[in-house]
Amino acid sequence: MNCNVCANLLTTIIYDPQNKISLTSLCQLQAGSIRICACETCGHLQTNEMADLESYYSKSYTILLNSEEEDQIYKVIDGKPLYRTQHQVDTLLQKVVNKGLRILDYGCAKSSTMKQLSRHDLDTQIYLFDVSDMYVEYWKSFLPASQWATYQIPADWLKTFDLVTSFFALEHIADLELCLNQVKSCLKPKGTFYFIVPNTFTNPSDFIVADHVNHFTVASLQYLLQKNGFIEISVDDQAHFGAFVVKAQLEPNSNATVLPTEVSQALQDAQQMADYWSSLSVKIRTFETAHSDRPAAIYGSGVYGSFILSNLQNTNNIRCFIDRSPFQQGQQVFEKPVIAPNAVTDEVEVMYVGLNPQIARGAIAEVAAFQSLNCEYLFL
Ligand SMILES: [Zn+2]
Repeated sequence: MNCNVCANLLTTIIYDPQNKISLTSLCQLQAGSIRICACETCGHLQTNEMADLESYYSKSYTILLNSEEEDQIYKVIDGKPLYRTQHQVDTLLQKVVNKGLRILDYGCAKSSTMKQLSRHDLDTQIYLFDVSDMYVEYWKSFLPASQWATYQIPADWLKTFDLVTSFFALEHIADLELCLNQVKSCLKPKGTFYFIVPNTFTNPSDFIVADHVNHFTVASLQYLLQKNGFIEISVDDQAHFGAFVVKAQLEPNSNATVLPTEVSQALQDAQQMADYWSSLSVKIRTFETAHSDRPAAIYGSGVYGSFILSNLQNTNNIRCFIDRSPFQQGQQVFEKPVIAPNAVTDEVEVMYVGLNPQIARGAIAEVAAFQSLNCEYLFL
């Protein structure tokens, strides 16, 4: 395969678990293994494309479609959840949005960020674009039909936007050239492209989900934007936990030269991440063997929790998933109930912690209901 960013042939395979199944970011299992390559030219990391990627997004990828208000928890502050959408709006307001902008949200899905932004009195004109019709019902709730489009960018949108935003979309897009061309064609000269993508080094689950074909590094983001004639490039790895917040300005007169960047650090970090995931399957199975026949629960019903379940030899001992998100509670995940942390009973003797390892120990220590449990924990 060729690199989605610099188009060079990818020859370095860094992760090849040869599993029979793989997980998507929506925790669905699909047949076939993922394989990740690293690009020695631009530092990009890339997963082989799913066979039916286009129809997947057009028909099956229903992120947060269960209810109007469904959202993901970004952080818990003093016991209260701060949701991802709210944090995205706060960061956007801090970094780019001021009054009177004409904004296009590209690859927008429900576009809950724009919906919340539209409630601010900023005199913005908001437009939406996606490669699916599934979200139209949501868009209707805050915009007229003339302000969204699917599959094709309308001709009268070209060169009219001050700002194009994109929230967690570019990691899914194999044809980055088409994507960047569309973004550029919509921007006014010197317009701003602002987007958020996962940072695989602080959000390791990004690495193993089959529908994230791109794992950007600072080096590959710089390369992508320079190659496409953007200047004033800023890649912020602090503003949104587990992600890169990227901002750049379109310079139509730039010569689009790519400055040489240091990629060796990115490649080294990527190999470490690959080794980490390779060792996890063994770690989970060793723990399982040492604690077989004891009632167990999995904390976290997202990608990490699903990864744990898919690696167990025997799932009969798993009584439930535990999740602090009210949107997950009451659902079934892999035919197991999802319950709230304070609904756990002392029957549970073993807990697999399916959370981002960077925050897992802190998150478990905060759960008051677990203080009285006599439980053994596995941290990833
Ligand atoms: Zn490359």
